[in-house]
Amino acid sequence: DGIVTLSEVKRTYYLGEPVHALDEVSLSLPEGSFTAVMGPSGSGKSTLMNMVGCLDTPDDGTVTVNGQDVGALSDGKRARLRGSELGFIFQQFNLLPRLTAAENVTLPMVFQNVVGESRRDRAKTLLTRVGLGDRLDHTPPELSGGQRQRVAIARALVNEPSVILADEPTGNLDTETGSEIMELFAELHDDGSTILMVTHERHIAEHADRIIHLVDGQIEEIEHVTENPPVQ
Ligand code: ADP
Ligand code: ADP
Repeated sequence: DGIVTLSEVKRTYYLGEPVHALDEVSLSLPEGSFTAVMGPSGSGKSTLMNMVGCLDTPDDGTVTVNGQDVGALSDGKRARLRGSELGFIFQQFNLLPRLTAAENVTLPMVFQNVVGESRRDRAKTLLTRVGLGDRLDHTPPELSGGQRQRVAIARALVNEPSVILADEPTGNLDTETGSEIMELFAELHDDGSTILMVTHERHIAEHADRIIHLVDGQIEEIEHVTENPPVQ
């Protein structure tokens, strides 16, 4: 059904007392959906992202990505699934500061069968798509925060991921720049991308189709975001 599914996923940490970071969470991300995750600190947002991101596996229950049972894979296969099916966008951008925008975008292609010249072409196409066609040879320190996040988005798209995972993508940006980045997310969504995004900001979450509210490792509510009424 979903590109990503969680079925009664449990993840418990033992710090003297057991902490149920995820407590029987079930969730499906349909293809093309845009889901936001909100919740207080310690509610399980990072643990959920690590599960879907194939960095962690459940103690109980099942996570699937593109039909593959993540918990049943070897570490190597899980890493490969992560590289081929998932695109990551972070609060701190996580770009390599000495590489140009084009080189940062090219990096994930190095382990794929993409030859040198077409890598550069592909980086150029993607950077143009995010509005940075004229910044290919700039390094991150030469770019604004919003531009850096655009480079990171281009990098996340490079292997045509099934799912884009965004962890506080606007957390380091001012309000206006954050809104511009959300407009870019809306375009990706319109183009059919499946997106899972953690945010603390309500107005950012409202760009998604639905908002998952996590509390104490459980889904407290799934809120469907109603479309804004059409402008008269
Ligand atoms: P959030 O991202 O919503 O702040 P987390 O997923 O980071 O929540 O954490 C959920 C709960 O699990 C918290 O109580 C946290 O302290 C605990 N936790 C998360 N990761 C670990 C870990 N590696 N070791 C021990 N406890 C952890
Ligand atoms: P955020 O709330 O911004 O998601 P956190 O500060 O909750 O980030 O967690 C940052 C990282 O530390 C996460 O990878 C999480 O798994 C880990 N972590 C959280 N709580 C604990 C803990 N009690 N012990 C060890 N690691 C933890």
